[in-house]
Amino acid sequence: METNIGRLVVYVGAMGSGKTKKLIDLYDEMVSDGIRVAIFKPFLACEGEDNEFVRTKDGRKAPAIAVDYLYEISSISNSERLQAIMVDEAQFFDEEEYGFQILEGLAMGGLEVYVFGLDVDSENHTFGHMGDILAHADEVNKLRATCVKCGEEARISKYVGESKGEGVQVGGVDDYTPQCRSCYHGWKERMEQARNKVEITIRRNDFFFVCSVEADRLLEMGYEVESIKDRLQSMDEVITFLAELKKVG
Ligand SMILES: [Zn+2]
Repeated sequence: METNIGRLVVYVGAMGSGKTKKLIDLYDEMVSDGIRVAIFKPFLACEGEDNEFVRTKDGRKAPAIAVDYLYEISSISNSERLQAIMVDEAQFFDEEEYGFQILEGLAMGGLEVYVFGLDVDSENHTFGHMGDILAHADEVNKLRATCVKCGEEARISKYVGESKGEGVQVGGVDDYTPQCRSCYHGWKERMEQARNKVEITIRRNDFFFVCSVEADRLLEMGYEVESIKDRLQSMDEVITFLAELKKVG
């Protein structure tokens, strides 16, 4: 018996990872193979551009059908006798809690289903229902973007625009930059800060003193990082040190 089960294939990646290019490549390939395929996109993602195309930054485009909800795809694919569907910017279909089941249903109905989107938002949280879609996919492809700061592989599309208002920000691709986890979390800066921190631990019979202070501040107070422990030998010296610390701070 011939099965008639399609597949759910997902492509995710940060801004600049070439998702739209990949989508159009696959679309062109299928069209030239004579496969009946259509691209769907959320109306939401169409602000500032037309609803009838997906476009790459370098000007390539392919026809698309804008819909409000994923469930609308089913009747269109039936009437158009589609064999494959592609969903662009799938992260924005976040109103249908069980959107992934709709996509699974389309695959079970025999369609090849290709889903494209951002896996995490600019806060590094799972974007919309992409987590569920990825969990139920037959194939997951993570496209690579390059971190604008260090050149490593980027995971997160960090928002660098002026103000981030309420709700979903659409378009304004230039307001988002691909960054790796380290750059996103400011790891380098934090390491530098940590390096500048001096941890002082003094353990004696009559007292126990623990303190973390910036190296610059110690110098400002006339202490040296190397000899700070020797300078704090008694409770009296520690209290004087704390008083000076407070004065400088
Ligand atoms: Zn980086």
